[in-house]
Amino acid sequence: MEKYDVVVVGAGPGGSTAARTAASRGLKTVFFERGRKPGEKNSSGCGLGQRWWRDFPEIMEKLPALPSYRKVEMVVINIVDENNRLRMRSGTTGSDLCANRWPNGMEGASLYRSDLDPFMAGLATQAGAELRASTLVTDVIKENGRVAGVRTDKGDNVMANVVIAADGAMSTTARKAGMRNRWGTGCTLVPQLDFSCSESKLDDVIGNAEWVWFGPFYGAYQVNFRDGFHIGAGQWLRKDWDTRPVDMIKRVMEIPAFQAMARAVDAKPREYQAHLLPWMEKPARSYMDGMMLVGDAAGFPCPLEGEGIWHACISGRIAAEVAETAISKGDTSERVLSEYDRRWRASPLGLEHKFGREFVDLWDSSIFNPELMKRQIQLLLELSMINNPFSVLFDWGDAHMECLNQHLLHFLDIVPEFSEYGRQYLLPLAAGISPEVGDRIIASMRKRVPLLKYLPESATRRLAARLLKPLAPALR
Ligand SMILES: Cc1cc2nc3c(=O)[nH]c(=O)nc-3n(C[C@H](O)[C@H](O)[C@H](O)COP(=O)(O)OP(=O)(O)OC[C@H]3O[C@@H](n4cnc5c(N)ncnc54)[C@H](O)[C@@H]3O)c2cc1C
Repeated sequence: MEKYDVVVVGAGPGGSTAARTAASRGLKTVFFERGRKPGEKNSSGCGLGQRWWRDFPEIMEKLPALPSYRKVEMVVINIVDENNRLRMRSGTTGSDLCANRWPNGMEGASLYRSDLDPFMAGLATQAGAELRASTLVTDVIKENGRVAGVRTDKGDNVMANVVIAADGAMSTTARKAGMRNRWGTGCTLVPQLDFSCSESKLDDVIGNAEWVWFGPFYGAYQVNFRDGFHIGAGQWLRKDWDTRPVDMIKRVMEIPAFQAMARAVDAKPREYQAHLLPWMEKPARSYMDGMMLVGDAAGFPCPLEGEGIWHACISGRIAAEVAETAISKGDTSERVLSEYDRRWRASPLGLEHKFGREFVDLWDSSIFNPELMKRQIQLLLELSMINNPFSVLFDWGDAHMECLNQHLLHFLDIVPEFSEYGRQYLLPLAAGISPEVGDRIIASMRKRVPLLKYLPESATRRLAARLLKPLAPALR
């Protein structure tokens, strides 16, 4: 019977990072992939954000050499109303703060998974890990209640000191080990349509950007590659599926501004897919005797925007490091592997999940609620109209000052509805505001609201904490 230090199930980004980390630390490592090659069974493509430059610069430096790579410098938001009219288009990369926080400013990357996954698996094999493709892991082997290896569809039993399950949303390994059942209603199904297009026209029309489309149709993303792009629009399984997944894509394709963009870049539909993406309020239990779960298998994708590749890689790296320590101690029990749980929770991955329930609630009550979204879009447009003085100037139905007054009155009318939404879904996030920022808020309130200058600071604090209850920890 074969025996390894580490067996990794899955050669997606999480599995390949775990295998690379384990092998580069001298552990005898094998990773299994059911596809004929890594990337064959995944969603078509992906966008990778700025934090990749902080955590995986060695990967980011090499991506431009891959065939489908497109540099990304901003996200362009398209807002569409219920009559399918494009009402607002704006780029998100305006702030110095965003650019200065990251080693390479707002630079990210987008590319097809058929490029990214084999590249990442290649890094693992170069580090010394053994890749076995076209091999399905069908079961785990347990000894005295602990996971001690895996069984494959080729009839092999492969033993390991530690098994790292990186087998994606469905994770046969997690289920067979008894760690969890299928994801319930916290999972989303994401239909996606991929288009080929002209590279030079895409350069001219879109450049180095990703696009999103928001409207009363759930919201959709558009990731742009070197000579193609895809659109996708997901939905939680717990929702009433009155819409077939493919209908959600069709709904985006009906938007005239989308059609104009598609014509301008000579787009041709190429491939339709639908994949599961765990979009959880909180991740699953991530370790047991002899085994750890990483990436989608653990429910790690970002609860605000569904990004999951960085999460898979970070958790894969931590799991392999913990495996090394456990193996060197000769103890791979649940007690020692609990270090994995502690470390990912303390990392930026864990901090992102601290507000999982609030993020999911916010999304559930906006993008994923078409009726509410109809009103939110209207509110957003009204607010931007007030913010943009030119809109008021060009509303020439009446004398301009008369118009301005009407706009202001209308704005005041819609504030209660917006504040209700804000109170319910935005304020819960205020609990994450730090005491330092809380201090700045108090100082700024005292400066701007003349009456507060005459109150002692402690009274201002109590007043603020009362008015903005969720801010209480920050204002204490
Ligand atoms: C439509 C869609 C679009 C997305 N877009 C983005 C994006 O733009 N950016 C981003 O960061 N994230 C994106 N995500 C999320 C991202 O794809 C996942 O979070 C990420 O791929 C998780 O990586 P992983 O390694 O955990 O799992 P996976 O990428 O799912 O890899 C699991 C691997 O294990 C293999 N496998 C499964 N079962 C077995 C088995 N029993 N035996 C052997 N091999 C097995 C699979 O074939 C696969 O290669 C998207 C998700 C979807 C569904």
